[in-house]
Amino acid sequence: MSGFHHDKGGKVWIVGAGPGDPELLTLKAATLMDTADIIFHDALVNIRILERARPDTTLVNVGKRGGKPSTSQASIQASMIHAARQGMRVVRLKGGDPFIFGRGGEECLAMWMAGINYEVVPGITSGVAAAACVGVPLTYRTISRSVLFVTGHEARKGEAIDWVHLAKSADTLVIYMGLTRMAEIQGGLIAGGRHPDTPVLAVHWATLPQQRYVCTQLNCFSDVIHQANLGSPAIIIVGEVVRVFQRLSRQEMVCPGDLEQSKIGDLTERLCGVPI
Ligand code: SAH
Repeated sequence: MSGFHHDKGGKVWIVGAGPGDPELLTLKAATLMDTADIIFHDALVNIRILERARPDTTLVNVGKRGGKPSTSQASIQASMIHAARQGMRVVRLKGGDPFIFGRGGEECLAMWMAGINYEVVPGITSGVAAAACVGVPLTYRTISRSVLFVTGHEARKGEAIDWVHLAKSADTLVIYMGLTRMAEIQGGLIAGGRHPDTPVLAVHWATLPQQRYVCTQLNCFSDVIHQANLGSPAIIIVGEVVRVFQRLSRQEMVCPGDLEQSKIGDLTERLCGVPI
């Protein structure tokens, strides 16, 4: 571990690592990684991004994946505070953007309460990246003038998301962590007034080489995504803008109804007979 800064005390940077592709890391994040003494990172941060760290920088996986017992939020924060108090330059590296379903707000509050100097560095959130890399414009004049980011995951037991209420609260819905709640989401959005044939796109491992996506429609998306065996992490996009992508893909890449001729082996949109 190099260069502690005992004179002024340490500092914590709460940094977004972007959706996965190392080239989507910001220059600021890359520079901070170069100068960090210790990096506490999430499990979702791509190994190729972590490989950028200097060999003498301590890397600590505080992720909540991989079958290992998860590190509690309180102990992550305590470790960040402890390292900063030792005078270290601490980078807390989080997938996507720290303030989009990343508990970055809680970490800021913990640093503030402990009197630790901290700064937040934005990252490209996976919902925005997933749409862009598949070619779905989240806003589009006349079709989508509002976008909602929502999590499918309830914060506490019994605090379920009110999908009926959310159904028409924005033109385009971008759903994080929704895979385990698909039946509920599908039913709620239709009950709330979304048309059953509203197009739905799910993108798995957006921006990474293992990226896959499924394009279907609201009244069957739960079954289709299960059949396609699409796992976590995935972003689900609901709204008419997905049709823009379908049109583009029809023109440029894929002949609907004829998956064999498609250049995109991953496109499984015909499972549900989507009208495009
Ligand atoms: N702060 C992160 C979100 C963390 S919550 C961000 O801004 O992106 C974790 C969820 O993000 C996953 O369950 C999944 O829904 C989504 N996610 C993160 N990276 C992803 C990726 N590369 N492709 C698809 N979904 C991703």
